[in-house]
Amino acid sequence: MIFERLCIIGVGLIGGSLSLALKQAGQVGEVVGYARTAETRQQALDLGIIDVAADTLAEAVRDADGIFIAVPMGAMESVLADIAPHISDKVVMTDGGSVKTPVVKAAYAELGDKVQRFVPGHPIAGTEKSGPNSAFATLYQQHQVILTLLTDTADDAVVTVRAMWEAVGAVVTEMDPTQHDAVLAATSHLPHVLAFNLVDVLAQHDDCQKVLRYAAGGFRDFSRIASSDPVMWRDICISNRDAMLALLTEYRAGLETISAAIASGDEDYLLSVFERAKAARDTRFTE
Ligand code: NAP
Repeated sequence: MIFERLCIIGVGLIGGSLSLALKQAGQVGEVVGYARTAETRQQALDLGIIDVAADTLAEAVRDADGIFIAVPMGAMESVLADIAPHISDKVVMTDGGSVKTPVVKAAYAELGDKVQRFVPGHPIAGTEKSGPNSAFATLYQQHQVILTLLTDTADDAVVTVRAMWEAVGAVVTEMDPTQHDAVLAATSHLPHVLAFNLVDVLAQHDDCQKVLRYAAGGFRDFSRIASSDPVMWRDICISNRDAMLALLTEYRAGLETISAAIASGDEDYLLSVFERAKAARDTRFTE
């Protein structure tokens, strides 16, 4: 068994699914859960995601040998600050936050010497749903988890966190936090912003209902991620500000050129962009 007493802080899709998966794999004894509201804590209890609901963070981490933090990015630093005085020297801590440089910075700022026990991580798995109700045990199977190790992270903590993810079927890789944030800005964070913006722009049209009624195929696929949790995505954009702004500038320049080509009827330019993109998509992306 990997953990005798695992504390999950944030018992929604990411935290809840990890708990269910570890329980199913028989790799955890007792799971203690904490969430911001009593309602969510009760929901997690009712769904069997956690065995015990703690009313405070201090109570949640007491005697835990493992801690998984899965709260929105905006709450990461305050959670680390609140648990720091109450954690043991032997605990293994990790998180599921989508942006890694701010988590690494917060860990150094708040954890003192215990930063050695912290292994920052990001499961590249999810859905557009949130809350305990959306959690399911197979979420991480065959999905990647990126660990962004600190220079001070203790080896045994890394071994334990790797084992935890592998026990739920994930494939673990390691990356530098800045590189992680740039890669994820491109593959996940920017696409979410584009989807939110497109749906928002279309929803303001007077004939929005009619437009959306005829939405099919591509629009349905592309817009699905616009039903993701707004708080989570607000936090991700602000947390990954630099990488997002660099990409948005590049993207805007591309759109301007496409817009000018459409205005001037520049068929060759449009064809060259679309052919280049199709070739890149067809040859370089593997599922
Ligand atoms: P979620 O389903 O909305 O769950 C978030 C949980 O955090 C809820 O239990 C919530 O409790 C709790 N929470 C919120 N603010 C808190 C605070 N200040 N203190 C303690 N608990 C708090 O979100 P999620 O999708 O699991 O995402 C969790 C983390 O994983 C985020 O950092 C996100 O960036 C990352 N992530 C998400 C995905 C994805 O696809 N969803 C994928 C990879 C990583 P209440 O309900 O009581 O507010």
